[in-house]
Amino acid sequence: MSLDEVDREQFASQFYSRQLLIEQLGAAGQEKLSGARVAVVGVGGLGSVCSLYLALAGVGYLRLIDPDTVAIHNLHRQILYSADEVGHPKAELAAKLLRKKNPLIKVNAVIEKVDALNVETLLEDVDVVVDCLDNFQTRYLVNRACIKLGVPYVFAAVTGLEGNLAIFNPPDTGCLECTMHSQKENSPKRVFGIIGAAAGIMGSLEALETIKLIADVGSNLSGKMLVCDFTDMSFMTVPLPKNPNCSVCGSR
Ligand SMILES: [Zn+2]
Repeated sequence: MSLDEVDREQFASQFYSRQLLIEQLGAAGQEKLSGARVAVVGVGGLGSVCSLYLALAGVGYLRLIDPDTVAIHNLHRQILYSADEVGHPKAELAAKLLRKKNPLIKVNAVIEKVDALNVETLLEDVDVVVDCLDNFQTRYLVNRACIKLGVPYVFAAVTGLEGNLAIFNPPDTGCLECTMHSQKENSPKRVFGIIGAAAGIMGSLEALETIKLIADVGSNLSGKMLVCDFTDMSFMTVPLPKNPNCSVCGSR
């Protein structure tokens, strides 16, 4: 179904009708979502689910950044991709699917590896950066760029049966490196075991916090970290104090 301008409004009112019933969100929150620009860094296990729910919630512009192509070992958790798409760029496939899932939004694919030279360009002119990465080297680059650009940074990580979620927004909160500082920066990338459902839960929670942050709904995980242990389903929220001696955000 293609949408002309006349149908568009009607389609939108029905598409979001169940979401609009949430009192804390309402039309005002939906408008904020429609006007929001979000960069999703990584469209793997976390990013597949996170970007899907951001798209379905009506975030007006999504920039999906990922240099990789689909591999067979991705398919058990990276739900945007199918076996017949192995070898194709993830960002492009994801963007194409999300445009189909919600024709009301704009989705842009960036098939580039985030590095020290391009990180600020890739993340400028967005309202929120969502980290769906699998390594701390790139996370530190993203963290530093977000501080410089003054953009809130939604962090999630999942390994095995554990997941973490937080929002960093200095100077109101500390940053990633206040608590998880650079000792891991030069460590080689490790391959962790992962269950698709665990990545899905964390990606979904990440989308939910991003939606709440944009639409100003409830309280969010700014300055706190949700620590999920799926082995016994214990969920704990711990404060993440600012580190005044942090070499990245401490001087602010
Ligand atoms: Zn810091």
